[in-house]
This record gives sequence, structure tokens and C-alpha cells, in this order.
Amino acid sequence: MTVLNEEQVEIRALAREFAQGELRPHTEAWDAARALPDSVFEAVAEIGFLGLRSPEAHGGLGLDLPTALLAVEALAWGESSVGLSVAIHVGSVTRAILTAGTEAQQGRWLPELASGARLGAFALSEIEAGSDVGAVALHAERVDGGWKLSGEKRWVTNGERAGLLLVFARTGPESGVAGLSVFLVEGGSEGLRVTGRERTLGMCASQTVTLAFDDVQVPDDALLGEEGGGWDVARDALVHGRLFVAAQALGIAQAAQEHALRYAAEREQFGRSLDAFGGIQEKLAGMAIRIAQARAFMLETAARVDAAGADLGAGEGGLHQPASLEAAAAMAKVTASEAAMWVADEAVQIFGGYGYMRDYPVEKLMRDAKGTEIYEGTNEVLRWIISRELVREAAGG
Ligand SMILES: Cc1cc2nc3c(=O)[nH]c(=O)nc-3n(C[C@H](O)[C@H](O)[C@H](O)COP(=O)(O)OP(=O)(O)OC[C@H]3O[C@@H](n4cnc5c(N)ncnc54)[C@H](O)[C@@H]3O)c2cc1C
Repeated sequence: MTVLNEEQVEIRALAREFAQGELRPHTEAWDAARALPDSVFEAVAEIGFLGLRSPEAHGGLGLDLPTALLAVEALAWGESSVGLSVAIHVGSVTRAILTAGTEAQQGRWLPELASGARLGAFALSEIEAGSDVGAVALHAERVDGGWKLSGEKRWVTNGERAGLLLVFARTGPESGVAGLSVFLVEGGSEGLRVTGRERTLGMCASQTVTLAFDDVQVPDDALLGEEGGGWDVARDALVHGRLFVAAQALGIAQAAQEHALRYAAEREQFGRSLDAFGGIQEKLAGMAIRIAQARAFMLETAARVDAAGADLGAGEGGLHQPASLEAAAAMAKVTASEAAMWVADEAVQIFGGYGYMRDYPVEKLMRDAKGTEIYEGTNEVLRWIISRELVREAAGG
């Protein structure tokens, strides 16, 4: 296991204790209900975890990125959907305001995000704009005193409960990502409606919704960053967001591994516990190896991202890593999500027929793990980003 500093050990222990007491007892019920109660977010806010990355001056904990990731990993270990919701709130929404917000915007929104008065949502995807962000069609036009947003957003995590949405919209005539801007839209704004709720395979409690924007008016100061600078904000938030997905994936993997280990010790066949069989031992060892590798790489990449600030192209590249942090974060997300999928699959296998049943916890973890290979950039698209960077570096770019 990667060596953690004192603060990281403390935060991780606090998060695990919280997850054990407040999340784990309810996972089955929340998964079946396809919803999280408000009280979960109140409880997460109470331990300060909605302000993991917000500066102390704005009411947050002001943690560095690796420590915040360890906290989210532990939340996801308790309940994956809570890990996802908090990751979007902290890793994407808070992050974007921290990098692109004016002092006034930060002063207005960061305290409310940190206290949990408002939950954040990140509204980028649309029906035709999934991997291809340049296809975003929701548009914003200038009106007296602000902007008017019209269109639809798909698959918005936290979208129904959010008090603040980061909405990517087309403001210029340019095609692709060049004409995109990002707006801070208050939940409950006139013209903003939930028009669909997804029945997802996993992460069922996290509430993924479709949102319609029917001429939603926002003031001038709702524009975050430069007009036409939406892609820069999105890219930076996605780099952070992908590390938070890695953390979620690791929480799922860790939970699956622990369930499998316990079950393999308890279940007897042929007069011996399962963990006495070589085939099972090999699976258990493979789980531990993949989790340790993925966590070490995530933490190392996070430390590089912190050291580089907002410069995604910065860094030495470390040992055989791409120099660009965008590619490194993509590698961390691919490594952790594929580890989670593999570990959860093997955990189901170790449980045998019981693993395939809803009454046991590992089938849910397998469903949840799959999501981490898809959202915040599918693993295929991330491999594209990684290879593009490798080719650029090899060519001396
Ligand atoms: C549970 C969940 C929560 C989500 N939450 C949010 C959210 O909060 N906010 C938000 O904005 N979005 C969210 N999303 C959307 C998510 O980010 C998209 O689903 C994802 O980016 C993929 O887009 P798509 O589904 O349109 O797939 P597509 O882009 O249509 O891709 C389909 C397939 O083609 C592959 N593909 C596409 N392009 C390439 C390429 N260039 N090279 C190789 N293969 C390629 C993909 O990898 C995939 O296998 C969420 C999705 C899920 C499942």
C-alpha cells in the first residue's frame, strides 16, 4: 500500500467510519429505491466532505487532491452512488469554480457548495453529444442583462437535486468545442425542468436525469470563465473528474475484494474453506495486486496534478508516463475502472451461485463498476487521448 501521510490516514479513517455507519446499512434499500435520501447529503456535509477541496476561507476542508480522492474512495466503498454524487460536486463543479471563477463568483458559490446548501451538477452530455463534446447543441443567446439558455441535457448526475448546475452551451458560431461557454445556473430556475429519469444498470441510487432548458434566463455574471472558453473549463474539470472516477472505482473494487475474502474464508466445499484452493487464492491475489497498482498510480498522478496547478500540459512525465496530465489522468481512470470491473467480476465468481443473486452484495458492485468504464470519458476515448499524447511526445512535440 502506498505510504500515506498523517492527514491522509485520519481522513481515510473518518471516511471509512462514516461509510460503515451511515452508508453500508442502507445500500440495498437505496439501490432498490433508485434514490438517495436528503439526509445522506446532510450527513456528508456535516463531516465537511462536500467541501473536501474548497479553501478553508470558503468553509471547506482545503484538502490536497490525493487526500480528497482517498475520502471519495472510502465513500464509494460505503455506497458507490454517494461516491459518484460527491465526486461530481467536488471534482467537477467545485473544481471548475476554483479554476475559472472570479473572486465574486467564488465568494458567492463556494461557501454554499462546501456547506451543502447547494449540491452541484455537471451538465455537459446531450443526446448527440456524448464522447463528442463538440456536438453540444444547447445554446445560449445574449439578452438584456444576461443570457437565455435553450436546449436539453442528458444523463445529469445530481441533476434533480442540484442547487447549482454547470451548464455547457453554444454561444458562438464556431463549430466543435470552440464555440462553447459554461454557465452557472441555479437549480429551480424558471424554465428548467426534469423531463426524464434513467433506469441505470448500476449506480442506481445516484439519480441520472434529463433536463430541459426552456429559455432559462441567467444574469451576466453566470458566465464562468471567458465567452467561448467553455472547453478549457470542461477539460480541466474532466481531468480532475477522471481522477475522482478512479477513486470511486477503487472504492468499489476494495469493497468487492473484502466481501470475496470474507466469503472465501467462510464457505466450505470438499471439506475445506474456499481460500484453501489455489484457483481461489490466485483470484484473491490478483484483486490485491490490481487495486494496489491502480491506487498507487492514481495518487501519484493526483500529486502531479496538484503540483502543476491548472497547467494540463505540465510535468516531467515521471517513470514512463506521458508528460501531459490529461493523458496521465486518463490512464489513472482506465486502470482503476478496469481493475474495479475485473475485481467485481471475480468476486461474483468466488461467491458462485450466491454471487449471482440479488441477496448478496457483489452483483451490485459489478453493476456499479461498469459505470466507471463509461462516464467522464469512455475508456476507448481515454485510450485515444493517451495514444495521441504518446505519439505527440514521440514526435518531439
Ligand atoms: C451513470 C452515468 C452518469 C453520467 N453522469 C453524467 C453527468 O453528470 N454529466 C454529463 O455531462 N454526462 C454524464 N454521463 C454521460 C457520459 O459522460 C457519457 O455517457 C459518455 O461520455 C459516453 O457518451 P455516449 O454515452 O453518448 O457514448 P458514445 O459517445 O455514443 O459512444 C458509444 C461507444 O463508441 C465509443 N466511441 C466513441 N467515440 C470513439 C472514438 N473516437 N474512438 C473509439 N471509440 C469511440 C465509446 O467508447 C462507446 O463504446 C453519465 C453517464 C452515465 C452512464
